[in-house]
Amino acid sequence: MFHSASSSIAGARLFWRPFLQPDYMATDLRLPTHKIVQRDKDRFLNEENPFEAMMSRFDRAAELLDLEPGIYKVLRNPEKQIIVSVPVMLDTGEVEVYTGFRVLYNTSRGPAKGGIRFDLQVTLEEVKALAAWMTWKCAVVNIPFGGSKGGVICDPLKMSVGELERLTRRYTAGIIATLGPDSDVPAPDVNTNERVMAWIMDTYSMHVRHTVTAVVTGKPVEMGGSLGRREATGRGCMIVTKEALKHLGMPVAGTTVAIQGFGNVGSIAAEMLQREGCTITAISDRTGAFHNAKGIDIADAVRYVKEHKTLEGYTKGDKITNEELLTLDVDVLLPAALENVITSKNASKIRAKIVCEGANGPTTAGADAILDDKGVFVIPDILANAGGVTVSYFEWVQDRGGYFWSEESVNDRLRDIMTRSFKDVLSLSRQHKVNMRTAAYMLAISRVSTVHKLRGIYA
Ligand code: NAD
Repeated sequence: MFHSASSSIAGARLFWRPFLQPDYMATDLRLPTHKIVQRDKDRFLNEENPFEAMMSRFDRAAELLDLEPGIYKVLRNPEKQIIVSVPVMLDTGEVEVYTGFRVLYNTSRGPAKGGIRFDLQVTLEEVKALAAWMTWKCAVVNIPFGGSKGGVICDPLKMSVGELERLTRRYTAGIIATLGPDSDVPAPDVNTNERVMAWIMDTYSMHVRHTVTAVVTGKPVEMGGSLGRREATGRGCMIVTKEALKHLGMPVAGTTVAIQGFGNVGSIAAEMLQREGCTITAISDRTGAFHNAKGIDIADAVRYVKEHKTLEGYTKGDKITNEELLTLDVDVLLPAALENVITSKNASKIRAKIVCEGANGPTTAGADAILDDKGVFVIPDILANAGGVTVSYFEWVQDRGGYFWSEESVNDRLRDIMTRSFKDVLSLSRQHKVNMRTAAYMLAISRVSTVHKLRGIYA
């Protein structure tokens, strides 16, 4: 693992100075002009554009770091963007053509790492934003990966298992040139799971003529997956939520939590927070939300979803809307569905003291300032949901070493990394008097740009 840079960013400007010496760099990335980093907020009027939302946070952190213009330009652009047509033979015998994306945002610190989502809402802008987020996320928790993301525009809930398998394999074949344990390693995301990862791993292995387990993470344990990976993102959310409660002097027992999204992240975070003594008063999925002030029995809700696929028809709580869930009077709000749910339109109504961003990009840039003004403590996505990629890293290490760890060992190492990363970000936020999101971006950008400076520009 890389050495922590947090101690060296006592003053961001000082941090860069040693690298400005010609001896350290083949290429001086500074332009002769004065700073070009601008808070060009006018460009970010579209708060729903996830790439621009991400970039406005990036710009703020880059400005505070006094990032050099050359590095700024490099980090503002994705390395590679792939668009593929994915023809699939449907069960009816008809052929449908889907569109798939894979974006490698930055690979300076190591192979690209990032999930694949199957969803009707997938766009290239979204995939670019998610790939950038992965870059910053891996850097925040200091694991040796770059960032990537992929997606296919489709509605997997309306597809048969056979159609999904053919879609997955053809998409994998379409992006195979960039895949590989040393170049780009996918993982599950919205509407993809262990089974989809198994198909990707098999397709890749058939193409290269030998079994390559480390080409994906989030695989079934039987074929090289890691114990604890399925629960890792939700577990990470639980760990940082407890750290935030400790920081704010709030007890864990009795803390009320509302969770949006009841898939992998939301349901596991709910189970784990309940086990720690929190009361989960609301849960939701795409079909609606349910509120019960006395607390929802999460194991029971999980059983219900296993049986019925969704929460639709659940009777152990009052039916409310997903929008209403966000503004409930709770201690912790944990969005774990899609992005852009907390916006400038509803941020002023958020009553939670802590927002733990289980989802990627649930809060728009416009909402950040409103939440700050209200004193809401936001644990940003690139920290809060980094548990998944951290255990994906453990899985990749185990696959490459051919030696597998106990679940206890995985969970202990995850707790160490999440706790340390929370403290790194918190101390930077205190030092620079910025919120946790800006501090997390500053930490990530400083780590990625340090490597760029050391490597120089190849040409
Ligand atoms: P998932 O597909 O398992 O679950 C998504 C959940 O969100 C489902 O319950 C779905 O019904 C619900 N949902 C979908 N649209 C909704 C809407 N409009 N309103 C309310 N609920 C809605 O996905 P997941 O793996 O749990 O991922 C959730 C979020 O967490 C995504 O933003 C993803 O990028 C992020 N994330 C996931 C992981 C991981 O390891 N799975 C890691 C990091 C971040």
